[in-house]
Amino acid sequence: MTESDLLARHRAVMPDWLALYYSEPLEIVSAHGRHVTDSRGRTYLDFFAGILTNAIGYDVAEISDAIRRQLDSGVLHTSTLYLIRKQVELAEQIAELSGIPDAKVFFTNSGTEANETALLLATQYRRSNQILALRNSYHGRAFGTVGITGNRGWSASSLSPVKVSYVHGGYPYRSPFGHLSGEDYIAACADDLRDVLQTTTSGDVAAMIVEPIQGVGGFATPPDGLFASFKEILDEHGILLISDEVQTGWGRTGEHFWGMDAHGMKPDIMTFAKGVGNGLAIGGVIARGEVMDCLRANSISTFGGNPVATAAAKATVDYLLANDLQGNAAKLGDRLLSGLRELGQGTGIVGDVRGKGLMIGVELVRPGGREPNPPAAAAVLEETRSRGLLVGKGGLHNNVIRLAPPMTLTADEAGQALEILGEAITAADGS
Ligand code: PMP
Repeated sequence: MTESDLLARHRAVMPDWLALYYSEPLEIVSAHGRHVTDSRGRTYLDFFAGILTNAIGYDVAEISDAIRRQLDSGVLHTSTLYLIRKQVELAEQIAELSGIPDAKVFFTNSGTEANETALLLATQYRRSNQILALRNSYHGRAFGTVGITGNRGWSASSLSPVKVSYVHGGYPYRSPFGHLSGEDYIAACADDLRDVLQTTTSGDVAAMIVEPIQGVGGFATPPDGLFASFKEILDEHGILLISDEVQTGWGRTGEHFWGMDAHGMKPDIMTFAKGVGNGLAIGGVIARGEVMDCLRANSISTFGGNPVATAAAKATVDYLLANDLQGNAAKLGDRLLSGLRELGQGTGIVGDVRGKGLMIGVELVRPGGREPNPPAAAAVLEETRSRGLLVGKGGLHNNVIRLAPPMTLTADEAGQALEILGEAITAADGS
């Protein structure tokens, strides 16, 4: 069966709103390291899987062995009604790594479910359904989380039970406050937060949820210290801070283990998912004990933190700590950032190169200005693919190229990607 047959069948039976990349969508059939092979036998360097699913890379022996050992025991899963040793061990490790005092951990199957749980905890703890979120945010696709997603393209319903107020801050490149420098920008956003609290809420807000670097929003990167300034204001009102670390956790940003650490304080709640299972479905919530334990009814997560997923996640976290992949992300991230900035100066369509570690966004604009250039981003996606490189796309205006390779990336592979991106951006600039 050809790819186009499969695409026609996909379109017939699956929802129209399930986004697919590329004019001819890709079917990946095998993978190793940082490379994937499609159903036509073409191999690509994968510069997007690191955040999506595979923090470390594909076909990593230590992780496959951990999964296989669990399969060999005959127990794929029992239920959270029984004790699961791997789950407890992983929770202990994550609680310690979180740095949140007296932390407890609850496992889910996805980032959406993790954020839904964070909303449940915060609203119950504070007895309020009011939430503050950032404009240009993405937190999931369920009934509560679409209601705190400040990006029209990804928020399919306005009927959510959450009462949300949006504040500025996540996306400095397109800020209504103009092009302010770090401290001035932070002060303007803090004033906006105070104003929103006074004007659009009744004061007893439950929580503010933020992505330290906005993922779907185009790797928009606020200045360090912004969220510390927000936290001071939130603390005056007893409002909890939730850090959505679904994309920024596990050392990906290089300088810190969690994205929020760049802001010099700890949030009350963190959520995680995506790459930490290195391909298996696992997410979770970390919260101070008194917040986690505020629910007074029984609960169960039938598949959350199952033995196979927790074996994969434990092996992934052990691997990335033992091999200092955070250090690798910092080193190669710096190299990519400076290479891309240099490359951007040679063309008129690179408006901004931003990010941290192996989480880098390249915002494409119309020549000479800041007007978003989505056709250029679409062209770069196709041009990189035809040269053997997979990258991501995103941003409010669909004009940002997103780079997030597995954290085992090598210097040679970083060099190859830079070369291909240079060619692809030049081709898009001329088209
Ligand atoms: N939070 C963030 C920051 C995300 O990027 C995503 C997924 N793009 C989610 C939550 C939702 O995760 P999932 O798709 O696993 O439900």
